[in-house]
Amino acid sequence: MAANGPMTASEIARETIKQMAARRVEPTPDNYTQIYFEVAGKPAKEDAASALRKALKQLPHDSLEQTNWINRWEKLLKQDNWQGLGELLTESMQSQLNHSTKWPKAIRTLLQGWDDKRSGVDVARKRETLERVLINFGNDETLADKLIGMANHWLPADARVEGVPLTNVADLPATEGAIVETSSDTVSLPNEVQQFHGAFTILQTLLKQTLQLGLIPRLEGYPDLQAEAVALQESTERAKKLKEWEALAKSLKALLLRVEVIGAKEDDVRGDIIDLLHLLLSNIGELVAEDGWLSGQVYAVQSIISGPLDRTKLKQAEKSLKEVIYKQSLVKHSLIEARNSFKAMISTFIDKLKYMGDASELYGGKIESYAQELSKTDDLIKINELVNHLMRDTSVMQTDIMRSRDDLLNQQRVASDTQLRMQKLQEELQQLSEVVRIDQLTGVLNRRGMDEAFNTEIARHRRSGESLSVALLDIDNFKILNDQHGHAAGDSALKHLASVIKRAVRPTDIVTRMGGEEFVVILPNTNLNEAVVTMTRLQRSLTKEYFLGNNQKLLITFSAGVALFKVEDDVATILLRADQAMYLAKKSGKNRVMTEVDLEANT
Ligand code: GH3
Ligand code: MG
Ligand code: MG
Repeated sequence: MAANGPMTASEIARETIKQMAARRVEPTPDNYTQIYFEVAGKPAKEDAASALRKALKQLPHDSLEQTNWINRWEKLLKQDNWQGLGELLTESMQSQLNHSTKWPKAIRTLLQGWDDKRSGVDVARKRETLERVLINFGNDETLADKLIGMANHWLPADARVEGVPLTNVADLPATEGAIVETSSDTVSLPNEVQQFHGAFTILQTLLKQTLQLGLIPRLEGYPDLQAEAVALQESTERAKKLKEWEALAKSLKALLLRVEVIGAKEDDVRGDIIDLLHLLLSNIGELVAEDGWLSGQVYAVQSIISGPLDRTKLKQAEKSLKEVIYKQSLVKHSLIEARNSFKAMISTFIDKLKYMGDASELYGGKIESYAQELSKTDDLIKINELVNHLMRDTSVMQTDIMRSRDDLLNQQRVASDTQLRMQKLQEELQQLSEVVRIDQLTGVLNRRGMDEAFNTEIARHRRSGESLSVALLDIDNFKILNDQHGHAAGDSALKHLASVIKRAVRPTDIVTRMGGEEFVVILPNTNLNEAVVTMTRLQRSLTKEYFLGNNQKLLITFSAGVALFKVEDDVATILLRADQAMYLAKKSGKNRVMTEVDLEANT
C-alpha cells in the first residue's frame, strides 16, 4: 500500500478484496462497503435502513394510528422491501399534504357557516353544536371533517364542501364547555355528561311545568307577577349557559319572595271576609227577626263560623242547614196545601147549601154573604168562625136540610182535624226554629239563646230589683289542647266543661256558649261576690272532675271575668265589662277569676 498520497479508487477496491479474503468474511455488498470505507480511512457510513430504524424509534407512539404506521415501516424494512417502502412514503406524503390543506378548509367552512344566516340556526345554537363536536371529536383525526360536516348544515346545498358527510349532531351528547375543561377524567366524561344532561333536561321540563301549572294560574289577579312568571317560564326553554341559569334562579327567587308576601296578604283578606260575613249575618238576623225561620237559619250559620273553620265542620253545618231548609219548605208547603183544601171543601159545601136554600130568599142571601167572606180570607180562625155561623144558621133550617146538616157536621170534623194537623205542623215549625237557639255541640244555649235569656232576665231584674250578675269564661290555652290532642278531643273538652258548669251552678242560672271556647253564665238574684264564689267553686269542681282526652287525665282551667248589671246597662255593655275583667285574669297569669272592681283598681 502506498504511504504517501491518497489511494486511488481502484487501489482501495483492490485492497478491500484482499482484506475480505484475509478476514474470510462473506462476500456480501454490506461487508464490501464496510471494509471499503475502512481501507479508505473514512468512518463507515451508516446504511439507510438502520438510519431509518433509528428515526422510527424516535417518532411518537401516542396514537394507535401512529403505532400502526411505524409498524408498517419497520416490517417493510425488515423485509428489505424498498419498493413497498417507497409506496408507503408516497402515501404518507399524500396524507400529510391532505392534512395541511384540510384544516384551512375546515376553518374557512366553519367561519362561512357561522356567519351564514340562511339556515335559520341562531348563534347560540351554533355555539352549542360546536361544543358538542369539540367534546366528541376533539382528540380525533377526523375533527376537521366533522367540523366541515357540521358547518355544512348551516350552509345552503350549493355552498357546502363536497365529499364530506354531514355531521349528525343530534346524536351527540352535549354539555357546558366549562365542565369538559375542569373534569380530570376525560375518558369516562361523555357518559357522565350524558347522564347529567339527561337529569338536567328532566329538571328543566319540571321547572317549566311547575311554573305553567302551579305558579302562573295561582297568580291570577296579579298581572305583573303573572307576566314575570310567564317570562321566567319562557327563559327556562332558552337558558343554556350556567350564567343564564344563575340569572334565572335569581329572578325566580325574587318572584317567590313576592308571591309569599301576597300569600300573607290573602290570609289577612280571608280573615277580613269572615269578619264581614259576621257583620252581615248579625244585621240580616236583626232584619228578619220577625221570621223565625229565616233568622233561625242565619243564627245557625253564625254559630258555625264562630268556631274554627275546618272542612268537616262546614260540611256538617251545610248538611244540617239543608235539612232545616228542606223541613221548613215541607212544613210550609203542607200548611198552604191544608189551608187551600180546607177552603175548597167549605166552598163546595156552601155551594150545596146555596142550591138547597134557593127556595128561601132569606137563606139564599145569608149563604151568599158567607161565600163572599170566605173568598176574602185565608185566616183559619176566621174560616172556622164562618163554619160555626153556618152551623148555627143551618140548625134552624127545615127538615129537608137535615141530611145536609149531618154532612156539615161531618165536614166540620174534617175541618177541625185539618186544623189540628196544621197546629201540629206549626208546633213542629216552632221546635225546629228552637233548635238553633241551642248549641249543637254542648247542648247549652247558643249566642242567640243567650241574648234572649239575657233580655228576659234583664226584664225580671227591672221588675224585681234583684241583683243580676254575669260571668264570662274563657278556657286557658285551649289551642294547645287542640294541637296536642286533636280537634275532636277539644270538642269533648267543651262538652265536658259545659256539663261541669251546669252541675256547679244553680238551676236558675243560665249557662250559654257564646262561641268558640267562651262560655257566659247569667246569674239571676246573685251579687258580684256570690258570682265570684260560684266561679271559684266551678274551678274546684274542674280539679276534681278530670277531663279524659285520649285516655289521659287532662286538667281544664279557665279565666273568668264577673260583672254586675247596672241600671244603664244593656246586654252588650255588661258583657264588655265581663270580657275586660276576663282579659285582666288572662294577663295576670290565667286560671283565675277577676271582677269589674279589679278592673277599676287596675286602671
Ligand atoms: P288563652 O289562654 O289566651 O285563651 O289561649 P287559647 O289558646 O285558649 O286562646 P286562643 O283564642 O288563642 O285559641 C282558642 C282556640 O279555641 C282556637 C280554636 O282552635 C279553639 N276552638 C274554638 N272553638 C272550638 C271548637 O268548637 N272546638 C274545638 N275543638 N276548638 C275550638
Ligand atoms: Mg278565646
Ligand atoms: Mg282561651
